[in-house]
Amino acid sequence: MSRSPGEKARLSSDNIRLFGDPVLREESKEITELGPELERLSKLMFEVMDREGGIGLAAPQIGIQRKIMVWRHPETEQGYVLLNPRIVERSEETVTASEGCLSLPGHSMDVERAERVVVEAVDLRGEPVTIEAAGLLARIMQHEIDHLEGHVILDRTTSTERRRVLKDLRDQMEP
Ligand code: ZN
Repeated sequence: MSRSPGEKARLSSDNIRLFGDPVLREESKEITELGPELERLSKLMFEVMDREGGIGLAAPQIGIQRKIMVWRHPETEQGYVLLNPRIVERSEETVTASEGCLSLPGHSMDVERAERVVVEAVDLRGEPVTIEAAGLLARIMQHEIDHLEGHVILDRTTSTERRRVLKDLRDQMEP
């Protein structure tokens, strides 16, 4: 997820897979083995996320179909790695806010999300982690877990917003 939805995202990355890439449309595979390779992957994901100014990144966004995501706490800047995260509870109460995605640079759109979610995952050592998230944190969780399941924000926005963004994307591609 981008740091600030309204902010103009940089378009410089070779590594970020952009909307339209089929890798963003497939469900990622569960991680069954821990080890140094996974640690290297998470390090790379932090590098890409930080370089691109993101606050969350899911592995398919760099072309890896594995259930791993990294995120930074919006206030403390502390970084976390989650393996096989899943939402086990979501509030009925929702919030609509503008959301951006590193795979759709420059296009933010309104997305309705649950105000609170509970996420279960494991960390790099295989220890179980439970996160009770609200507000922006809950939004990051829902956004990145969506990526691991093959969904992007265009699937979650209103039809009016979707039409607007798809038109912008088409206009951009025209010479
Ligand atoms: Zn995203």
